[in-house]
Amino acid sequence: MKIIDVLTEYGTRSLDRTFSYVYFGQKRIEPRFRVKISFNTQLLMGFVLSVRETQRSVKELEEEYGYSFKEIKEEDIIDEEPLVDDNMMELAKEVADYYFAPFIGVMQAMLPISLSPKLSSLKGPKIAYEQWVRLKENDEKGLTDKQIEMLRLIAGYGPILKKECGSVSILKKLIEAGRVEVFRKEKARFVIKPEEREEPHEMSEEQQKAYDTILNSEKDVILLEGVTGSGKTEVYLRLSENILSKGKSVLMLVPEINLTPVMVEYFSRRFGQKVAILHSELTPAERYDEYRRIAKGDASIVVGARSAIFAPLKNIGLIILDEEHVESYKQDNSPYYHAREVAIMRGKREGCKVLLGSATPTLESKARADKGVYGYASMPHRVNQKSLPPTSIIDLSDRQNLTKESEKLSLPLITEIRSRLEKKEQVLLLINRRGYWTGIECPKCGHIFTCPSCGGNLTFHQEDRMLKCHHCGFVEQYPNSCPDCGNHQLRRIGYGTERVVKEIEDLFPEARVARMDSDIGKVSKNVEKILREFHDGKYDVLVGTQMIAKGHDFPDVTLSAVVLADIGLSLPTYRAAERTFQLIAQAVGRSGRSKKDGAAMIQTYNKGHYAIVYGAKQDYKSFYLKEMQQRRMTGYPPYFYLILLEFSSSKEEKAVQASLDFKREIESLDIESFSTLGPITPFFSMNNGKHKRNLLLKFKKREEVEKPLRELIEKFTKLGGIDISVNVDPLDY
Ligand code: ADP
Ligand code: ZN
Repeated sequence: MKIIDVLTEYGTRSLDRTFSYVYFGQKRIEPRFRVKISFNTQLLMGFVLSVRETQRSVKELEEEYGYSFKEIKEEDIIDEEPLVDDNMMELAKEVADYYFAPFIGVMQAMLPISLSPKLSSLKGPKIAYEQWVRLKENDEKGLTDKQIEMLRLIAGYGPILKKECGSVSILKKLIEAGRVEVFRKEKARFVIKPEEREEPHEMSEEQQKAYDTILNSEKDVILLEGVTGSGKTEVYLRLSENILSKGKSVLMLVPEINLTPVMVEYFSRRFGQKVAILHSELTPAERYDEYRRIAKGDASIVVGARSAIFAPLKNIGLIILDEEHVESYKQDNSPYYHAREVAIMRGKREGCKVLLGSATPTLESKARADKGVYGYASMPHRVNQKSLPPTSIIDLSDRQNLTKESEKLSLPLITEIRSRLEKKEQVLLLINRRGYWTGIECPKCGHIFTCPSCGGNLTFHQEDRMLKCHHCGFVEQYPNSCPDCGNHQLRRIGYGTERVVKEIEDLFPEARVARMDSDIGKVSKNVEKILREFHDGKYDVLVGTQMIAKGHDFPDVTLSAVVLADIGLSLPTYRAAERTFQLIAQAVGRSGRSKKDGAAMIQTYNKGHYAIVYGAKQDYKSFYLKEMQQRRMTGYPPYFYLILLEFSSSKEEKAVQASLDFKREIESLDIESFSTLGPITPFFSMNNGKHKRNLLLKFKKREEVEKPLRELIEKFTKLGGIDISVNVDPLDY
């Protein structure tokens, strides 16, 4: 008999331990297999951590342990091979440790749906098969002409798909005659479009220097700081070539926001079928197929978004994170991991370098490069020697800039757009908020339209006339009148992408306008289509959120403008200035990338704010110095570490009490340079009927916080009725 210790699929802290079952069967069962288990009265998925032989009887065990053992039967065993190898298992442990996260949650984040340790994975996509035909005996004797023709086809091409052989009856005859046979083969539901092979660019001097620096660096992590248009992609491609030539593989990460197709195209042009893709816009079936293709060793380059950092690629020679500053690299639910941190952990395990690329690195990365913890390479000029476009800041509080023609667009911006349209050049307009109006209230009774499930503001979407919560996804029909007093004259506040499109359509009826935001981006084909069509000149103006600010190369764009730069500044997070700077710098960087000269405009009510002033100049250095000062004064990263604790309970008093008690206890430990902020009621104070309270921990030395924090979390969890979620290195706070 065997004792099987499993984790359940529940990632809650109180269940983050193993449960034991007994097994009498013969079928193979090993650590890292999935098994169906009965847990209390429920059927759940379990993940096997250990298998122990025992000579004792169930009765003896039950007496010793003090509880009754349930059985796992042969038919409950799901897998025939372990889900992950030792290396990945160790990585998952390290991630779970660093992020104070339940281990099973990390496994679930790591694996594609079909392989995830969850009962629902059984409904996930299965392996698909195809019928193929291959040669058995190449002998034409006694065959008819038609049969010979088919035999030659099969002999000539090697195995071919059964459905491509032609006549079924002729094929049947060939099979009966023992000349060919049918076999089953896994079908890949995802095939990268074969792209025309592209010859590499001759590297510029600056690129060559960066390339050499990166290859020769003795550091494990290297920051490549290259302005927009400096040709970072070519450097990634050349480095990859070098790594592949040594027989190793490359993991290339890109942000979640539909940049993957662009990067995939670059890589598949250079490396053909060696490339595999993993990102959220593939269907689950396609992802599953790509995942297994990588696991089998059929790909030597993986291009993918955040979770691709867990790709089962072997023998990795280099991990690259493009646009390392983009926040979608951090998962915004448990285990709240950041792909950059995981990349560094994985790089250490694989003994390979990690390259972080950006025009506007995060302060954390830049500070580490400055201190010599990371290696550093820079490309301060655009490849084509074009200078960055001149950028004007337009003060929206100055009446001279306003015009009766438009509420949202200033006179100078309208004039500039007009002149670009006349010259048949293209315009990018960035507004970092989607929807039409971003808030609605009743001026008569003061009713504000808020989300009934989380308390956030509801945004009006003209397209489908719905009110939507951008935080939790709640939607309802726009009622046209106040639900409290019936008043029809509702006040509309704020505006987003849809409203700007309307503005352009009213001002320039002849202009062809496209919109790009995550509403459109829900369908990935849309994104690619719109970007391609804009690239090919089918539109004159593209209005979008930050999705359009990053990475894209539109040669005919000669004007890019940020319609309202202040949106990000007012957000309640220590990164507000950094985000605003990055957004502006990226937006400015989209303009004038090829032969034609470009310009950029920033509309704002805060024309003196350093994020806006330096952003407009793309003066990263000055911004960095100023913002570092700011962070030091206020005690935020990279000077201090942050951990955000969220206490939730169905009883509000419990959440309040636990957070207060926790604060008192952890402060009483007198950890050096340690402080707490809160507890506060978060903006979104309810979720699934649970009340929340947040407590932020700030500290300088992680080593000193690690152990006491772990112990306290465990202690409070044991009290019951309260769940503590931990967000290590939170970005919003
Ligand atoms: P970045 O990512 O640094 O903003 P890209 O990698 O998008 O810049 O490169 C900008 C443009 O320069 C692209 O169109 C690319 O094809 C081109 N490019 C890159 N390297 C070279 C080179 N060595 N010679 C000519 N063109 C290049
Ligand atoms: Zn909501």
